[in-house]
Amino acid sequence: MNSQYVVAKFGGTSVADFEAMSRCAHIVRDNPNVRVVVVSACAGVTNHLVTLTQQKEDEAGRKAVVAAVENIQQAIIDQVSLDADLAEGYKQTFSEFENLASLPALSRQQCDEMLSFGERFSSYLFTQILRNNQVQASRFDVRKVLKTDNQFGKANPNVAATREAAQTNLVALLGDTVQVTQGFIGSDQYGQTTTLGRGGSDYSAALLAEAIDASSVHIWTDVVGIFSTDPRLCVKARPIPRLSFDEAAEMATFGAKVLHPATILPASRKGISVFVGSSRDPQAGGTWIEKEKTAQAGIRAVTQRKNQILLTLKSPEMLLASGFLARIFTILSNYNISVDLVTTSEISVALTLDNAPNASRPELEQACLDELGEFCHVTVENNLTLVAMIGSEIQLKKCQLNLMDVLSEFNIRLICHGASKHNLCFLVEQQESDQVVQSIHAKLLEVA
Ligand code: ASP
Ligand code: MG
Repeated sequence: MNSQYVVAKFGGTSVADFEAMSRCAHIVRDNPNVRVVVVSACAGVTNHLVTLTQQKEDEAGRKAVVAAVENIQQAIIDQVSLDADLAEGYKQTFSEFENLASLPALSRQQCDEMLSFGERFSSYLFTQILRNNQVQASRFDVRKVLKTDNQFGKANPNVAATREAAQTNLVALLGDTVQVTQGFIGSDQYGQTTTLGRGGSDYSAALLAEAIDASSVHIWTDVVGIFSTDPRLCVKARPIPRLSFDEAAEMATFGAKVLHPATILPASRKGISVFVGSSRDPQAGGTWIEKEKTAQAGIRAVTQRKNQILLTLKSPEMLLASGFLARIFTILSNYNISVDLVTTSEISVALTLDNAPNASRPELEQACLDELGEFCHVTVENNLTLVAMIGSEIQLKKCQLNLMDVLSEFNIRLICHGASKHNLCFLVEQQESDQVVQSIHAKLLEVA
């Protein structure tokens, strides 16, 4: 049975400064069911920390980054005056940060430690701002409950261990105090700090909601929900009031940057509804993602994801032989590479990988290419965009409009349809992709 508890997550822009944090504090104050608050690092901080993990700065450069991080936080502290418990914790955490930043070289584990500071800092500040708004709040170190493996940079949660730890260490605290905790970070079985990958705070919130049997998770960001496409690209883009878990998962995966792609998994496992709204405008509504009995057929959104890598692997020796795909995927899996689209023919395979800028780990390592190169001819193409049309029951026959007519205008490099009834995806040249999205949106989603 799910409780009435709500987990509220505030993203980086929602906790960017004192005013933004104060708006979020009002949201928490106005909803007594919110018992767990998950915060991101203040906007910009994680990017600074990523710079430090790249280990290209000399001592002066590292000091300058530390100062930049400090300034973002100090501007908030100047306006709140931390209670003794929080002031002490913050000071200690900051000196840990300075010590780590003084090292010229970092291990992978230390890189995760470095990346964790943003959320650790912001959670002190937000706890204080809640208190200043008459909300009884304490700071909770999420590493006590959010357990992961030790794949640093992109750790995988251990759902069972997280649940057990949350039931023992967190649930009992929720009675009368709001627990303010960190998104994005966790710890492995030895207690070493890990991170879930960029944008991982949404995922943290959903994992915690699952672990404490919350009724819903509210993701507060800087847009009033999930849009039919990026509103910066199409002025007529509209927020979608309701999405099924499947549709939302596809949207997050294929580029609607509003949600971390894995967020929907825990929510849909437990039937926890997810709300996405804007902390700037909480009254404006947003998108509710819920279990749906019947999904309405049709296309709801068009998204794009730039910086895709297309990997084409060809092996004439594999004609009529078996095991080609197994061999390829074993290697990719050994390098922990996640593949998005796949198309195959007898002796060749084309697949796409995400080459996200700002990723804390490169997607395609040379060593992996070398291993593949031992038995097939490998071509790597860059500067491609994956465009996805997302909805339910997307079948060519069922769609009112002739999709082929819509698509025939574009230079399509690869097309994927059929594995899921929720998407139809294709690759185009990056420089054309904005236009492609605008045109599809105009044709399929702007009809009255
Ligand atoms: N602070 C982390 C990032 O910027 C995690 C998050 O905000 O979701 O990627
Ligand atoms: Mg985010």
